Amino acid sequence: MILTQPLHKGRRESPDATAVVCGDTRLNFGQFAERASRLGAALQALGMAPGQRIGMLSLNSHRFVEYFFGVWWGGGVVNPVNIRWNPKEIAYSLDDCDTRILLVDDTFVSMVAALRTLSTCLRTVIYCGDGPVPDGMLGYELLLAGSTPGEDAPHSADELAAIMYTGGTTGRPKGVMLTHGNLYIDALGSIAALPRTAHKPAIVITTPMFHVAGCGLSIQAVVRLAPQYVLPMFDELATLQAIESSRATETFLVPTMIRRLIEHPRFAEFDLSSLDLMVYGAAPIDVPLLEKAMQAIPRAGFAQAYGMTELAPTVALLPPRCHLPGPDRERLLRSTGKPLPMVEIRIVDAEDNEVPAGQVGEIVARGPMVMRGYWNKPNETEDALRGGWMHTGDGGYIDAQGFLYVVDRIKDMIVSGGENVYSAEVENAIAQLPEVLMSAVIGVPDDKWGERVHAVVVLRPGAALEADALIAHCRSQIAGYKSPRSVEFRDALPLSAAGKLQKFQLREPYWAGRQRRVN
Ligand code: ATP
Ligand code: MG
Repeated sequence: MILTQPLHKGRRESPDATAVVCGDTRLNFGQFAERASRLGAALQALGMAPGQRIGMLSLNSHRFVEYFFGVWWGGGVVNPVNIRWNPKEIAYSLDDCDTRILLVDDTFVSMVAALRTLSTCLRTVIYCGDGPVPDGMLGYELLLAGSTPGEDAPHSADELAAIMYTGGTTGRPKGVMLTHGNLYIDALGSIAALPRTAHKPAIVITTPMFHVAGCGLSIQAVVRLAPQYVLPMFDELATLQAIESSRATETFLVPTMIRRLIEHPRFAEFDLSSLDLMVYGAAPIDVPLLEKAMQAIPRAGFAQAYGMTELAPTVALLPPRCHLPGPDRERLLRSTGKPLPMVEIRIVDAEDNEVPAGQVGEIVARGPMVMRGYWNKPNETEDALRGGWMHTGDGGYIDAQGFLYVVDRIKDMIVSGGENVYSAEVENAIAQLPEVLMSAVIGVPDDKWGERVHAVVVLRPGAALEADALIAHCRSQIAGYKSPRSVEFRDALPLSAAGKLQKFQLREPYWAGRQRRVN
């Protein structure tokens, strides 16, 4: 039951209320519950045993939402696939999780032949598109039409619900085992921490559903019995149109998406006045961008979320009131807020001893949303969960008022001449320059300093800026040892499927053949 519980509630209490909208498809809670339960029964008939993993390789759609709840209805475990992976990586992950049934949409159907050759597990492919069903595959809608739903499978909160892959920002993604309890409690925690508004909620989802942020938002919408407007993927214009036409009250975007949205040439044409809440997070945001976004969408309350796949995902929130004018605003805008009600967060040193307020260390978290572990990776699991705390790999500190600040991923910190430099601080200084679109600050090898602060910068189209001017600006804003010693201009920076900056890709050529302190 657990995660399917809201389906029962929706069907009973508001069967006619809109549940999921995607393109021309609009499902009310009665239809959504019926279709999810039919999918659950169809998967059982195809041999899905309790706890069996079921894959999904697809852009976002109403069927993606049905897949989550249908698999849970039937007692299975969702194993959505990162759409950026190549067939070899996908086949590896299907085999790693013993995933025998895979759902695919039109975008990825052409990959199936290769997956069948590469994977030893894959048996059944269900086609989730709207065209004719390809040979050798089963049709999603036909399966639903021919299925007779029964009761949903009994679940306890400790049972596995999902294997979700981490964002792949720092390297190869890891499969995170999340239980029904992890996902349900985290959804409730976020709902409890965010302010309610007088308007009936309507949520636009444009971040990928294979990632925990998209999946978690979809769960929140169902738990709240709120309509979710699902876009196949992030697109500035489509997002603006969806917010306007659905009169959306809430959405979640990662910082790179916020930038693209507010800087779109047609941004001003759209009426976003319905938006009460803009949640941002999953990656650091620079304060100049945040300020600009708040000016561009003045009616919306902004809230920052901090979390990770391993924490199902959100553990801290900076609510809209902390974004309002006030004596502490400048400081609070750099914070990621306070822990959610069910979470304990501490900052520890390399020996796992708690450090005093204000001191930087590793952020660790404990509570009922902590993952069960990494799939098939007992050593990494033991290391990440040592002492009963999830070690996030993020550096941060907590101030005297209990606000959490994320300063950098520990892997991304730069140690130059024995001093720690946090890349986010340098990127914030660079972001003040109007010529700069984006930047990534990384540590590159240096014979004198060990590591040297190096900035990789994308300028706005048509803008001109010299490296010396950029360095001089940084020196006027932050300490000399933190300022870049070298600058490189590029046309674009490598982003993950979730829209996050993959610094390891930028570092790689510099460190080829050399050992970095942390990889
Ligand atoms: P991988 O673990 O595969 O390298 P990833 O860490 O990006 O990828 P996710 O689980 O999607 O995978 O992201 C969690 C990470 O995102 C956190 O550990 C943190 O570094 C970063 N993050 C999340 N929210 C915030 C935030 N509000 N501010 C700064 N960083 C954030
Ligand atoms: Mg991670």
